Amino acid sequence: MVPEEYLERLEATTAEPDDLFEHFEQRSVAGQTHYVLTAARHGVERGTVIVEDADVVVRGYPSIPRILVLDPGIPSFFEGGETVAIEEKLDGFNVRIADVGDPLAFTRSGYVCPYTTAQARDSLPLEEFFAAHPRKTICAELIGPETPYTTHDYEGIDTHEFRVFDVRDCESGVPLPVADRRELCEEYGFGQPRLFGRAVASDTIATVRDTIDDLDAVGREGVVLKSADGVQMVKYTTKTQHHGELAYAFSMPFDYGRDFVFSRVVRDAFQAVELDESEEQLEERARDLGESILRPMISTIQDVAAGETVGERHRVRGDPETIDALFDHLHEHSLTIEREFDQCENGERVVEFVKVADSSRDRIRYYLDGGTR
Ligand code: ATP
Repeated sequence: MVPEEYLERLEATTAEPDDLFEHFEQRSVAGQTHYVLTAARHGVERGTVIVEDADVVVRGYPSIPRILVLDPGIPSFFEGGETVAIEEKLDGFNVRIADVGDPLAFTRSGYVCPYTTAQARDSLPLEEFFAAHPRKTICAELIGPETPYTTHDYEGIDTHEFRVFDVRDCESGVPLPVADRRELCEEYGFGQPRLFGRAVASDTIATVRDTIDDLDAVGREGVVLKSADGVQMVKYTTKTQHHGELAYAFSMPFDYGRDFVFSRVVRDAFQAVELDESEEQLEERARDLGESILRPMISTIQDVAAGETVGERHRVRGDPETIDALFDHLHEHSLTIEREFDQCENGERVVEFVKVADSSRDRIRYYLDGGTR
Protein backbone atom coordinates (compact mmCIF):
# COMPACT_ATOMS: atom_id res chain seq x y z
CA MET A 1 0.00 0.00 0.00
CA VAL A 2 1.00 3.64 -0.35
CA PRO A 3 3.74 4.50 2.13
CA GLU A 4 2.33 6.53 5.04
CA GLU A 5 4.92 9.29 4.65
CA TYR A 6 3.59 10.22 1.20
CA LEU A 7 0.01 10.24 2.36
CA GLU A 8 0.94 12.64 5.12
CA ARG A 9 2.81 14.85 2.65
CA LEU A 10 -0.16 14.95 0.29
CA GLU A 11 -2.67 15.47 3.07
CA ALA A 12 -0.67 18.48 4.23
CA THR A 13 -1.35 20.15 0.85
CA THR A 14 -5.11 19.67 0.83
CA ALA A 15 -7.81 21.74 2.45
CA GLU A 16 -9.64 18.66 3.70
CA PRO A 17 -7.18 16.11 5.03
CA ASP A 18 -8.94 12.80 5.17
CA ASP A 19 -8.32 9.10 5.07
CA LEU A 20 -8.95 9.28 1.35
CA PHE A 21 -5.76 7.76 0.16
CA GLU A 22 -6.87 4.17 0.13
CA HIS A 23 -7.94 4.97 -3.42
CA PHE A 24 -4.47 4.68 -4.91
CA GLU A 25 -3.85 1.90 -7.42
CA GLN A 26 -0.45 0.23 -7.56
CA ARG A 27 1.22 -0.10 -10.98
CA SER A 28 4.60 -1.35 -12.00
CA VAL A 29 6.36 0.88 -14.56
CA ALA A 30 9.86 0.18 -15.90
CA GLY A 31 11.05 -1.28 -12.61
CA GLN A 32 9.40 1.40 -10.47
CA THR A 33 6.26 1.19 -8.36
CA HIS A 34 3.74 3.94 -9.13
CA TYR A 35 0.79 4.61 -6.81
CA VAL A 36 -1.89 6.31 -8.86
CA LEU A 37 -5.03 8.10 -7.67
CA THR A 38 -7.73 6.92 -10.08
CA ALA A 39 -10.38 9.51 -9.18
CA ALA A 40 -10.20 13.02 -7.72
CA ARG A 41 -10.56 12.99 -3.94
CA HIS A 42 -10.86 15.95 -1.61
CA GLY A 43 -8.72 18.41 -3.50
CA VAL A 44 -6.23 15.89 -4.87
CA GLU A 45 -6.57 15.48 -8.61
CA ARG A 46 -7.23 12.29 -10.54
CA GLY A 47 -4.01 10.97 -12.04
CA THR A 48 -1.81 12.04 -9.11
CA VAL A 49 1.17 9.67 -9.01
CA ILE A 50 3.48 8.79 -6.11
CA VAL A 51 6.85 7.40 -7.23
CA GLU A 52 8.50 6.23 -4.03
CA ASP A 53 11.75 5.07 -5.68
CA ALA A 54 12.38 8.61 -6.92
CA ASP A 55 10.78 10.30 -3.87
CA VAL A 56 8.50 12.28 -6.16
CA VAL A 57 4.79 13.06 -6.08
CA VAL A 58 3.35 14.24 -9.42
CA ARG A 59 0.04 16.00 -8.92
CA GLY A 60 -2.71 15.48 -11.49
CA TYR A 61 -3.84 18.31 -13.75
CA PRO A 62 -6.91 20.04 -12.29
CA SER A 63 -10.27 20.12 -13.99
CA ILE A 64 -10.99 23.49 -15.65
CA PRO A 65 -14.50 24.85 -15.09
CA ARG A 66 -16.44 26.16 -18.07
CA ILE A 67 -18.58 29.26 -18.44
CA LEU A 68 -21.59 29.20 -20.75
CA VAL A 69 -21.89 32.97 -21.12
CA LEU A 70 -19.01 35.44 -21.29
CA ASP A 71 -21.02 38.23 -19.73
CA PRO A 72 -21.35 38.02 -16.75
CA GLY A 73 -19.52 34.66 -16.71
CA ILE A 74 -16.02 36.18 -16.79
CA PRO A 75 -16.41 38.94 -14.18
CA SER A 76 -18.36 36.68 -11.84
CA PHE A 77 -15.73 33.93 -12.06
CA PHE A 78 -12.85 36.36 -11.39
CA GLU A 79 -14.65 38.13 -8.58
CA GLY A 80 -11.76 40.22 -7.30
CA GLY A 81 -11.63 42.25 -10.53
CA GLU A 82 -8.10 40.99 -11.06
CA THR A 83 -6.03 40.98 -14.25
CA VAL A 84 -6.49 37.84 -16.33
CA ALA A 85 -4.61 36.36 -19.27
CA ILE A 86 -6.46 35.02 -22.31
CA GLU A 87 -4.71 31.97 -23.79
CA GLU A 88 -5.72 29.77 -26.65
CA LYS A 89 -7.15 26.40 -25.68
CA LEU A 90 -5.68 23.81 -28.00
CA ASP A 91 -7.31 20.57 -28.99
CA GLY A 92 -4.86 17.81 -28.24
CA PHE A 93 -3.83 15.42 -25.54
CA ASN A 94 -2.93 16.49 -21.98
CA VAL A 95 0.43 15.24 -20.69
CA ARG A 96 2.44 16.00 -17.60
CA ILE A 97 6.17 15.55 -17.98
CA ALA A 98 8.06 15.04 -14.72
CA ASP A 99 11.50 13.80 -13.73
CA VAL A 100 11.03 10.62 -11.71
CA GLY A 101 14.59 9.37 -12.21
CA ASP A 102 14.06 9.74 -15.94
CA PRO A 103 11.62 12.16 -17.53
CA LEU A 104 8.26 10.44 -18.12
CA ALA A 105 5.08 11.69 -19.78
CA PHE A 106 1.99 10.92 -17.73
CA THR A 107 -1.52 10.87 -19.16
CA ARG A 108 -4.40 12.59 -17.39
CA SER A 109 -5.23 9.36 -15.58
CA GLY A 110 -1.64 8.79 -14.45
CA TYR A 111 -0.45 6.21 -16.97
CA VAL A 112 2.95 6.60 -18.58
CA CYS A 113 2.56 6.86 -22.35
CA PRO A 114 5.68 5.42 -24.00
CA TYR A 115 5.03 7.19 -27.32
CA THR A 116 4.55 10.62 -25.75
CA THR A 117 7.52 10.04 -23.44
CA ALA A 118 9.79 9.25 -26.40
CA GLN A 119 8.54 12.24 -28.41
CA ALA A 120 8.99 14.56 -25.43
CA ARG A 121 12.55 13.35 -24.82
CA ASP A 122 13.28 13.86 -28.52
CA SER A 123 11.81 17.26 -29.03
CA LEU A 124 12.09 19.11 -25.71
CA PRO A 125 15.31 20.02 -23.84
CA LEU A 126 14.21 18.01 -20.81
CA GLU A 127 17.64 17.29 -19.34
CA GLU A 128 18.54 20.93 -19.27
CA PHE A 129 15.15 21.92 -17.89
CA PHE A 130 15.01 19.33 -15.10
CA ALA A 131 18.64 19.97 -14.12
CA ALA A 132 17.57 23.52 -13.24
CA HIS A 133 13.99 22.72 -12.13
CA PRO A 134 13.98 19.16 -10.78
CA ARG A 135 10.72 19.50 -8.85
CA LYS A 136 8.59 21.03 -11.57
CA THR A 137 6.05 19.37 -13.85
CA ILE A 138 5.70 20.53 -17.44
CA CYS A 139 2.03 20.45 -18.47
CA ALA A 140 1.64 20.31 -22.21
CA GLU A 141 -0.81 19.55 -24.97
CA LEU A 142 0.40 17.10 -27.62
CA ILE A 143 -1.18 18.38 -30.83
CA GLY A 144 -1.15 17.60 -34.51
CA PRO A 145 -2.37 14.94 -36.95
CA GLU A 146 0.07 12.21 -35.84
CA THR A 147 -0.72 11.31 -32.25
CA PRO A 148 -2.29 8.11 -30.91
CA TYR A 149 -5.07 10.08 -29.18
CA THR A 150 -6.26 13.10 -31.15
CA THR A 151 -6.21 14.11 -34.80
CA HIS A 152 -7.03 17.82 -34.92
CA ASP A 153 -5.06 19.53 -37.68
CA TYR A 154 -3.14 22.69 -36.91
CA GLU A 155 -1.70 24.80 -39.68
CA GLY A 156 2.04 24.29 -39.94
CA ILE A 157 2.11 21.04 -37.93
CA ASP A 158 2.69 17.99 -40.13
CA THR A 159 3.20 15.43 -37.41
CA HIS A 160 2.95 16.37 -33.72
CA GLU A 161 4.28 19.06 -31.39
CA PHE A 162 4.07 20.01 -27.74
CA ARG A 163 2.58 23.25 -26.50
CA VAL A 164 3.40 23.95 -22.85
CA PHE A 165 0.46 25.65 -21.13
CA ASP A 166 1.50 25.28 -17.49
CA VAL A 167 4.51 24.61 -15.28
CA ARG A 168 3.62 23.44 -11.79
CA ASP A 169 5.33 22.38 -8.60
CA CYS A 170 5.31 18.59 -8.75
CA GLU A 171 4.12 17.91 -5.25
CA SER A 172 1.86 20.83 -4.36
CA GLY A 173 0.56 21.37 -7.90
CA VAL A 174 0.96 25.14 -7.46
CA PRO A 175 1.42 26.76 -10.90
CA LEU A 176 3.95 29.39 -11.87
CA PRO A 177 2.36 32.79 -12.51
CA VAL A 178 1.35 33.09 -16.16
CA ALA A 179 3.97 35.74 -17.05
CA ASP A 180 6.81 33.80 -15.34
CA ARG A 181 5.80 30.56 -16.99
CA ARG A 182 5.65 32.13 -20.44
CA GLU A 183 9.10 33.62 -19.91
CA LEU A 184 10.51 30.30 -18.68
CA CYS A 185 9.05 28.48 -21.70
CA GLU A 186 10.61 31.02 -23.98
CA GLU A 187 13.97 30.53 -22.28
CA TYR A 188 13.85 26.79 -23.03
CA GLY A 189 12.33 27.18 -26.48
CA PHE A 190 9.10 25.35 -25.52
CA GLY A 191 6.18 25.97 -27.88
CA GLN A 192 3.24 27.66 -26.12
CA PRO A 193 -0.41 28.40 -26.78
CA ARG A 194 -1.02 31.90 -28.10
CA LEU A 195 -1.66 34.71 -25.64
CA PHE A 196 -4.46 36.98 -26.84
CA GLY A 197 -4.12 39.64 -24.18
CA ARG A 198 -4.25 40.53 -20.51
CA ALA A 199 -6.74 42.85 -18.89
CA VAL A 200 -8.93 43.37 -15.86
CA ALA A 201 -11.50 40.55 -16.02
CA SER A 202 -14.53 42.69 -16.90
CA ASP A 203 -12.57 44.36 -19.70
CA THR A 204 -11.77 41.09 -21.44
CA ILE A 205 -15.31 40.28 -22.56
CA ALA A 206 -15.11 42.08 -25.92
CA THR A 207 -11.63 40.69 -26.66
CA VAL A 208 -12.71 37.15 -25.83
CA ARG A 209 -15.82 37.51 -27.98
CA ASP A 210 -13.76 38.70 -30.97
CA THR A 211 -11.13 36.01 -30.36
CA ILE A 212 -13.78 33.30 -30.24
CA ASP A 213 -15.20 34.63 -33.51
CA ASP A 214 -11.78 34.42 -35.17
CA LEU A 215 -11.03 30.98 -33.77
CA ASP A 216 -14.44 29.72 -34.83
CA ALA A 217 -13.86 30.91 -38.38
CA VAL A 218 -10.72 28.77 -38.66
CA GLY A 219 -12.07 25.73 -36.81
CA ARG A 220 -10.06 26.12 -33.58
CA GLU A 221 -11.18 25.18 -30.11
CA GLY A 222 -11.44 28.16 -27.76
CA VAL A 223 -9.78 29.98 -24.88
CA VAL A 224 -8.72 29.48 -21.28
CA LEU A 225 -8.75 32.58 -19.06
CA LYS A 226 -6.25 32.52 -16.22
CA SER A 227 -5.65 34.70 -13.17
CA ALA A 228 -2.16 36.26 -13.16
CA ASP A 229 -0.97 33.74 -10.53
CA GLY A 230 -2.17 30.88 -12.78
CA VAL A 231 -4.38 29.38 -10.08
CA GLN A 232 -7.87 30.31 -11.29
CA MET A 233 -8.78 29.05 -14.76
CA VAL A 234 -11.96 28.96 -16.77
CA LYS A 235 -12.66 27.84 -20.33
CA TYR A 236 -14.99 28.81 -23.18
CA THR A 237 -15.20 27.13 -26.56
CA THR A 238 -16.31 27.76 -30.15
CA LYS A 239 -19.34 26.50 -32.01
CA THR A 240 -17.05 24.62 -34.42
CA GLN A 241 -15.60 22.77 -31.44
CA HIS A 242 -19.03 21.77 -30.09
CA HIS A 243 -20.09 20.48 -33.48
CA GLY A 244 -16.74 18.79 -34.11
CA GLU A 245 -17.00 16.91 -30.82
CA LEU A 246 -20.55 15.84 -31.64
CA ALA A 247 -19.44 14.61 -35.06
CA TYR A 248 -16.66 12.61 -33.40
CA ALA A 249 -19.02 11.15 -30.80
CA PHE A 250 -21.71 10.24 -33.32
CA SER A 251 -19.26 8.55 -35.64
CA MET A 252 -19.17 6.04 -32.73
CA PRO A 253 -22.75 6.53 -31.53
CA PHE A 254 -23.03 3.59 -29.14
CA ASP A 255 -19.63 4.28 -27.58
CA TYR A 256 -19.89 8.05 -27.00
CA GLY A 257 -23.11 9.57 -28.41
CA ARG A 258 -25.15 9.72 -25.21
CA ASP A 259 -22.31 11.14 -23.07
CA PHE A 260 -21.62 13.98 -25.48
CA VAL A 261 -24.94 15.18 -26.79
CA PHE A 262 -26.63 17.02 -23.92
CA SER A 263 -23.63 19.05 -22.75
CA ARG A 264 -22.71 20.19 -26.28
CA VAL A 265 -26.27 21.20 -27.15
CA VAL A 266 -26.45 23.19 -23.88
CA ARG A 267 -23.20 25.03 -24.77
CA ASP A 268 -24.49 25.85 -28.22
CA ALA A 269 -27.86 27.10 -27.00
CA PHE A 270 -26.34 29.49 -24.43
CA GLN A 271 -23.87 30.78 -27.01
CA ALA A 272 -26.64 31.45 -29.53
CA VAL A 273 -28.67 33.37 -26.94
CA GLU A 274 -25.72 35.46 -25.75
CA LEU A 275 -24.74 36.33 -29.31
CA ASP A 276 -28.35 37.30 -30.00
CA GLU A 277 -28.17 35.51 -33.32
CA SER A 278 -30.43 36.40 -36.21
CA GLU A 279 -32.98 33.98 -37.56
CA GLU A 280 -30.60 33.16 -40.39
CA GLN A 281 -27.66 32.51 -38.06
CA LEU A 282 -29.84 30.33 -35.85
CA GLU A 283 -30.94 28.32 -38.81
CA GLU A 284 -27.35 27.77 -39.87
CA ARG A 285 -26.33 26.79 -36.34
CA ALA A 286 -29.27 24.38 -36.04
CA ARG A 287 -28.47 22.81 -39.39
CA ASP A 288 -24.79 22.42 -38.49
CA LEU A 289 -25.67 20.91 -35.15
CA GLY A 290 -28.09 18.43 -36.69
CA GLU A 291 -25.68 17.50 -39.43
CA SER A 292 -22.85 16.91 -36.99
CA ILE A 293 -25.05 14.40 -35.20
CA LEU A 294 -26.82 12.70 -38.06
CA ARG A 295 -24.31 12.56 -40.90
CA PRO A 296 -21.43 10.83 -39.06
CA MET A 297 -23.87 8.32 -37.61
CA ILE A 298 -25.34 7.56 -41.02
CA SER A 299 -21.91 7.11 -42.51
CA THR A 300 -20.93 4.76 -39.68
CA ILE A 301 -24.05 2.65 -40.24
CA GLN A 302 -23.16 2.50 -43.94
CA ASP A 303 -19.61 1.44 -43.06
CA VAL A 304 -20.82 -1.37 -40.79
CA ALA A 305 -23.26 -2.48 -43.48
CA ALA A 306 -20.36 -2.60 -45.95
CA GLY A 307 -18.25 -4.62 -43.52
CA GLU A 308 -15.71 -1.83 -42.95
CA THR A 309 -13.91 -1.20 -39.68
CA VAL A 310 -15.39 1.61 -37.57
CA GLY A 311 -13.60 3.58 -34.87
CA GLU A 312 -10.99 6.27 -34.32
CA ARG A 313 -8.30 6.42 -37.00
CA HIS A 314 -4.79 7.55 -36.05
CA ARG A 315 -1.38 7.76 -37.62
CA VAL A 316 1.84 7.65 -35.59
CA ARG A 317 5.51 7.74 -36.47
CA GLY A 318 8.65 7.02 -34.49
CA ASP A 319 11.46 4.58 -34.00
CA PRO A 320 10.35 0.92 -34.16
CA GLU A 321 10.81 0.26 -30.40
CA THR A 322 8.68 3.26 -29.47
CA ILE A 323 5.94 2.16 -31.84
CA ASP A 324 6.01 -1.38 -30.39
CA ALA A 325 5.86 0.03 -26.86
CA LEU A 326 2.88 2.18 -27.87
CA PHE A 327 0.92 -0.81 -29.17
CA ASP A 328 1.74 -2.80 -26.02
CA HIS A 329 0.42 0.17 -24.03
CA LEU A 330 -2.80 0.36 -26.08
CA HIS A 331 -3.36 -3.39 -25.77
CA GLU A 332 -2.90 -3.17 -21.99
CA HIS A 333 -5.88 -0.83 -22.03
CA SER A 334 -7.94 -3.58 -23.66
CA LEU A 335 -8.44 -1.62 -26.87
CA THR A 336 -9.16 -3.51 -30.06
CA ILE A 337 -6.61 -2.23 -32.57
CA GLU A 338 -6.55 -2.83 -36.31
CA ARG A 339 -3.48 -1.76 -38.26
CA GLU A 340 -4.25 -0.49 -41.75
CA PHE A 341 -0.77 0.66 -42.76
CA ASP A 342 2.64 -0.21 -41.32
CA GLN A 343 5.80 0.83 -43.17
CA CYS A 344 9.27 2.23 -42.71
CA GLU A 345 9.92 5.73 -44.05
CA ASN A 346 13.43 7.18 -43.68
CA GLY A 347 14.26 4.93 -40.74
CA GLU A 348 11.00 5.74 -38.95
CA ARG A 349 8.06 3.43 -38.65
CA VAL A 350 4.74 4.91 -39.74
CA VAL A 351 1.59 3.12 -38.65
CA GLU A 352 -2.03 3.93 -39.37
CA PHE A 353 -4.45 2.16 -37.12
CA VAL A 354 -8.03 2.12 -35.91
CA LYS A 355 -9.14 1.94 -32.29
CA VAL A 356 -12.14 -0.20 -33.07
CA ALA A 357 -15.45 1.08 -31.68
CA ASP A 358 -16.68 -2.35 -30.57
CA SER A 359 -19.97 -1.27 -28.99
CA SER A 360 -21.02 0.79 -32.01
CA ARG A 361 -20.02 -1.91 -34.47
CA ASP A 362 -21.87 -4.67 -32.58
CA ARG A 363 -25.01 -2.67 -31.86
CA ILE A 364 -25.29 -1.38 -35.42
CA ARG A 365 -24.76 -4.90 -36.79
CA TYR A 366 -27.50 -6.17 -34.47
CA TYR A 367 -30.01 -3.54 -35.68
CA LEU A 368 -29.03 -4.04 -39.31
CA ASP A 369 -29.75 -7.72 -38.83
CA GLY A 370 -33.24 -6.85 -37.65
CA GLY A 371 -32.64 -6.70 -33.88
CA THR A 372 -35.18 -4.82 -31.76
CA ARG A 373 -34.68 -1.87 -29.42
P1 ATP B 1 -11.72 19.03 -17.40
O1 ATP B 1 -10.86 20.21 -17.52
O2 ATP B 1 -12.98 19.32 -16.68
O3 ATP B 1 -11.00 17.83 -16.84
P2 ATP B 1 -11.67 17.79 -20.00
O4 ATP B 1 -10.73 16.74 -19.58
O5 ATP B 1 -12.82 17.44 -20.87
O6 ATP B 1 -12.26 18.64 -18.82
P3 ATP B 1 -11.07 19.97 -21.66
O7 ATP B 1 -12.49 20.40 -21.69
O8 ATP B 1 -10.44 19.61 -22.94
O9 ATP B 1 -10.76 18.82 -20.68
O10 ATP B 1 -10.26 21.19 -21.02
C1 ATP B 1 -9.14 21.10 -20.22
C2 ATP B 1 -7.86 20.72 -20.97
O11 ATP B 1 -7.54 21.67 -21.98
C3 ATP B 1 -6.62 20.73 -20.11
O12 ATP B 1 -6.54 19.57 -19.34
C4 ATP B 1 -5.52 20.81 -21.15
O13 ATP B 1 -5.13 19.52 -21.56
C5 ATP B 1 -6.18 21.48 -22.34
N1 ATP B 1 -5.60 22.79 -22.71
C6 ATP B 1 -5.34 23.17 -23.98
N2 ATP B 1 -4.84 24.40 -24.01
C7 ATP B 1 -4.76 24.84 -22.73
C8 ATP B 1 -4.33 26.06 -22.12
N3 ATP B 1 -3.87 27.08 -22.81
N4 ATP B 1 -4.39 26.12 -20.76
C9 ATP B 1 -4.86 25.09 -20.02
N5 ATP B 1 -5.30 23.93 -20.56
C10 ATP B 1 -5.25 23.81 -21.89
